[in-house]
Amino acid sequence: MNGVQYPWLSETWTNLQASMQHGSLPGALLFSATEGLGEESLVEALLKVQLCNSSEVEACGFCHSCTLFQAGTHPDLHRIAPAEGKATISVDQIREGNRYALESSQLSGQRVIIIEPAESMTEQAMNALLKTLESPPDSCVFILRSHAPHRLLPTIKSRCQHWHVKTPVLSEYQQWLTANGISEVPELYYQLCLGAPLKLKAFIDEGQGAEFDSTLAALTNFIEQDFALPKTFVDRCSTDTLAKLSLLSLALIELQKGYFVELPTVENHPQLKRLKSVLDYQQVFDMTRRLAKLIEQLTIHTGLNKELLLSQWLIETKTR
Ligand SMILES: [Zn+2]
Repeated sequence: MNGVQYPWLSETWTNLQASMQHGSLPGALLFSATEGLGEESLVEALLKVQLCNSSEVEACGFCHSCTLFQAGTHPDLHRIAPAEGKATISVDQIREGNRYALESSQLSGQRVIIIEPAESMTEQAMNALLKTLESPPDSCVFILRSHAPHRLLPTIKSRCQHWHVKTPVLSEYQQWLTANGISEVPELYYQLCLGAPLKLKAFIDEGQGAEFDSTLAALTNFIEQDFALPKTFVDRCSTDTLAKLSLLSLALIELQKGYFVELPTVENHPQLKRLKSVLDYQQVFDMTRRLAKLIEQLTIHTGLNKELLLSQWLIETKTR
């Protein structure tokens, strides 16, 4: 029985197993990864081993502990996550976890506390956790999972053993994509999804790739045709605006590089290549800078007239 379901996680898993076998896992661990790597499954596999009564490196799946784990009712496992409808983990939740850590194990010999996403702890919550991590109780493991470890207090990070799950290169998981029905992936999509396999798969499966290409085509059409109305592009971006603009921003950054070296992300992507043919480097540089400002504006002030700002962004590209 394999503890992890994705091939790009197996190296980290093997290293973790080696540490477990040597008994060298400390009382606090931090797992970080880019979103879309499926590292949750790795952390779940680890929790399961930590609680399993009959194996040190791979959960057996049928002991009493494993059964309770699968049912979600293991008394030695405490999960801390933002409460429903909340974006943050409160100090009270952490205090409760701290108390839990001090109690003795009911079944497996140790207690496990998982905090995810760890970066959603408020500052007060982080400080409360820090106190416990400074002198961790015996027979207790704290596991933190984060997509943004830079948002954690440095003092928390320094008290955890940090496991960073690295993003695989495309060739490392092409086989997995093929097995999942995706044979050809434009290099640009890999870049837009920050290399994360699960994100890339969803991007293609859900038609976001095709949608992105159409948005790019609408942008190029606008620039190519004099006096064309900005409507098609603006309409396309009027829903899910921030996500779409962020993708566009990544593509424009890639395009900038494409003026200096021949990049497969640009040259093998017909729509981006076409955009390159109607703009010069300075224009793209300028568009990217203004787009970053627009994204910032829309993030901070939610009540703005998106359509108007998008049209302005487009028109300024043309008049410069
Ligand atoms: Zn077991």
